[in-house]
Amino acid sequence: MTPREDSTKNETQLDSSANYFNGTRELQCEYLVIGAGTSGMSFVDTIITEKPSATVVLVDRNDGPGGHWVHAYPFCRLHQNSCNYGVNSVPLGKNIDANGNERYDVNDRATGKEVVEYSNKVCDKFKATGRVECLFGVEYEKFDEKRGVHVIVPKRRENDSHSGDLKIRCGKLVKISNNVTVPSMRKPIIPVHESANFVTVNDMPSFVETSKFQKYIVFGCGKTGADAVINLLQRGIDQSRITWIVSRDVWYFLRDSMEDFWSFGSNFMDPMITCDSVKEVYLEWEKRGMIGRLDPNVPIPKIFKGPTMDGKELNMMRSIKNVVRMGRATSVEDNKILLERGSLDFSTGDTLLVDCMVDGYYGCDVPKDFEIFEPGCVNIGPIISVFNASLSAAHIAFLECALDDDESKNDCCYFHRGQPGNELGNYENIIGAMYLENKGNKKLMKIPGGRNFFMGSRTNIITPSHHKAGMLRLLWFMFGPQQGATFEKKLEKKMESNGFCDLDHCFGVAHPRQKVKPLFNFQTEIFGTKLMNWMAITLILGFVIGNTVGLPDINFHQSI
Ligand SMILES: Cc1cc2nc3c(=O)[nH]c(=O)nc-3n(C[C@H](O)[C@H](O)[C@H](O)COP(=O)(O)OP(=O)(O)OC[C@H]3O[C@@H](n4cnc5c(N)ncnc54)[C@H](O)[C@@H]3O)c2cc1C
Repeated sequence: MTPREDSTKNETQLDSSANYFNGTRELQCEYLVIGAGTSGMSFVDTIITEKPSATVVLVDRNDGPGGHWVHAYPFCRLHQNSCNYGVNSVPLGKNIDANGNERYDVNDRATGKEVVEYSNKVCDKFKATGRVECLFGVEYEKFDEKRGVHVIVPKRRENDSHSGDLKIRCGKLVKISNNVTVPSMRKPIIPVHESANFVTVNDMPSFVETSKFQKYIVFGCGKTGADAVINLLQRGIDQSRITWIVSRDVWYFLRDSMEDFWSFGSNFMDPMITCDSVKEVYLEWEKRGMIGRLDPNVPIPKIFKGPTMDGKELNMMRSIKNVVRMGRATSVEDNKILLERGSLDFSTGDTLLVDCMVDGYYGCDVPKDFEIFEPGCVNIGPIISVFNASLSAAHIAFLECALDDDESKNDCCYFHRGQPGNELGNYENIIGAMYLENKGNKKLMKIPGGRNFFMGSRTNIITPSHHKAGMLRLLWFMFGPQQGATFEKKLEKKMESNGFCDLDHCFGVAHPRQKVKPLFNFQTEIFGTKLMNWMAITLILGFVIGNTVGLPDINFHQSI
């Protein structure tokens, strides 16, 4: 069955999105998916694989697929490996072994342009099935309750003659709430004086090439800010000409430590089991060279959102001496930047200000009562596979196909809920996310076909086909000296028995408190007699002895 016009109209499949807006048209499908970034595409890919009858309409306001990568800065690339990014049925990586398997390779990371090309290829594949329609340059507007249809409108352009709206009837609406907003997709998030040369990171290279600027101020120290600083240095700008506004220090993953996947696995997991506090876990990861920070002498960063750099890049970042640690910038005035805890003067004419600021953690700041599956709706956003939006969406699509009711599907999804966006980067949340992901995976394994889906997903980094010696190597990791198989249970036990002294919650999971056996209770028997009886005997004896022999006088002041 193909997504088609309403049966009251003609039944032919529509082949050009422009046609849809000639007059008022209607389409019907099983799933209407809003968003053609990796989440939306990964969801569609798994749905059409697992449910051979499903029909889908995929829409996006961008003029093509790829989500935020369509707006990425020119020198942006995946910061993690390509082999598990995207959708399950189409490879993205370039490191392919003799058997055609994509290999895990931390240096095989697609550029933004390659991610967009890949996304187009995926959409072509979808369309070729005849079961998926992809519409771009359109906006999902609303659900028209009166008519029971979803309304899609074209992005109005000058000279656009198509004015009609498209109505879609669907079994389920799939919303992607991530909406990653990179700086080029928005206006500045702080007021900026018109005299300032304040540009997004996308425009930075062309301004640098004008050689008009003596100084550069980079706002933001996440992945984008770090990339901007490195790009300036690589272009030969001396560090003394760069000022870096670091609102709060963060941790960076160090890619070098990930080269050997299996030792990375145990180096990542072991400290979560052996250390007594979240802080110690981070210090241990740092000691093992897995994470790094700009300055080891400032108080330990409490933020980790997973930006990944290599050691060489971190050293370049550390070469910047003008680091401003006065909190977030609150506005840019003429010749002055105001920050939460001070101000910074600059000369307007010869300074380029580069916007790399990010607000919160996209799509993940969901309310406490948020559910992924609701009647008639699937809400994709919160991540259920750590740092992996692609696998999260595929996993959700698998649950959608494998289980019957929303309650059972939601019961398999564990994620951070009810935390404000600005707290989602808190460093304990990565440990929490591992704990939550393990709980979800445990449930997935119990669903018929769940294990095969998980182990066969290319978006799953641990999948055997990504690694030399495949399944054998995985089994050795799980049951050999590294004992990977025990991690899940150990972390769960530790989390649920308050095993981290600086963590007082279980990331929203209600779990039966570990029963602590009291040393004694009144029913405990000692030498065959209950403790209660021993106490009564002692009291009586004490009373009798006290009255007959007398108690010694004790002077507490003297004894102290
Ligand atoms: C610089 C950078 C590097 C990254 N590197 C990696 C990496 O190496 N590996 C990794 O796993 N992750 C990486 N990420 C994280 C990555 O952003 C996410 O994994 C993922 O791309 C998010 O995809 P998404 O589909 O959920 O959201 P988006 O890419 O934001 O897609 C959502 C889409 O929905 C559309 N949309 C929303 N509302 C509407 C509407 N009403 N009508 C029409 N369309 C609508 C938007 O136009 C958008 O295209 C990186 C992120 C950044 C910023």
